[in-house]
Amino acid sequence: MYIKPKKKLGQNFLLDKNIQHKIIAACDFKSVDCVLEIGAGRGELTKLIAEKVAKVYALEIDPDLCGFLKEHLKEYKNVIIVNQDILKFNFKTYFKNRVKVLGNIPYYISTAIIEHLFKFRQKIETAFITVQKEFAARITAVPGSKDYGSLSCFVQYYANPKRLFIIKKNSFFPAPTVAPASLKIEMKREASFKPKEEELLFKIIRQAFAQRRKTLRNSLRETVSKPKLGKFFAKYNINPNIRPEDLTLSDFRNLASL
Ligand code: SAM
Repeated sequence: MYIKPKKKLGQNFLLDKNIQHKIIAACDFKSVDCVLEIGAGRGELTKLIAEKVAKVYALEIDPDLCGFLKEHLKEYKNVIIVNQDILKFNFKTYFKNRVKVLGNIPYYISTAIIEHLFKFRQKIETAFITVQKEFAARITAVPGSKDYGSLSCFVQYYANPKRLFIIKKNSFFPAPTVAPASLKIEMKREASFKPKEEELLFKIIRQAFAQRRKTLRNSLRETVSKPKLGKFFAKYNINPNIRPEDLTLSDFRNLASL
């Protein structure tokens, strides 16, 4: 049965069987695992996951595709098809224990999906996601590199992200405009800042990178007082002319703590 891909829902189906297997092998799923799949599409990855794990929740926003999935995956008794928007999905009502997440995710809401996953990070062990390779580069970037910015800090605060491999555009139908990359995002377990402090940390980071060519002193002029910044430079032995892209996440944490 042919289903016309809907561009507005980011439907680029992964047809290359070798890549499907490569993704599943990289996830190293165990037979006891429970997996949430974001955007099950035509269910090709879903079937491969279902063969490896105890239970799969296959989330799909498109009701036409949900009909297709119900028909084509009816033999897979451990697959539960959920017709829902991932951005409205409440992990707490579905899962008692931590789950693994897999998704060849729609590009148009990549950032929103990452933010949503972090909101429920206590319920997630690891997320394996396929995103545009530029987006993956920003997520995994290290200080001093051109891709390093507020997204890198945001993700690396909550998780340990690792790029697994790049996938050729023509592995998909229709081929996306940018080549995708597969990422492994392992949620951190240790306690982080309190919510109010996190808010401040991310405010400082966003503000710092809003004008990344400026020195930190200039870009934070309206967010952090001069004496506080002075104290930060002195206490942590940091060059007062440093640019935001040269600050590590722990530098930003130290600044927010002050
Ligand atoms: N997993 C399939 C594959 O690898 O071929 C489909 C991947 S396709 C890039 C993304 C899928 O996410 C589409 O099936 C699309 O309908 C679905 N989708 C788009 N927005 C969504 C949302 N907000 N919540 C859940 N699924 C969504």
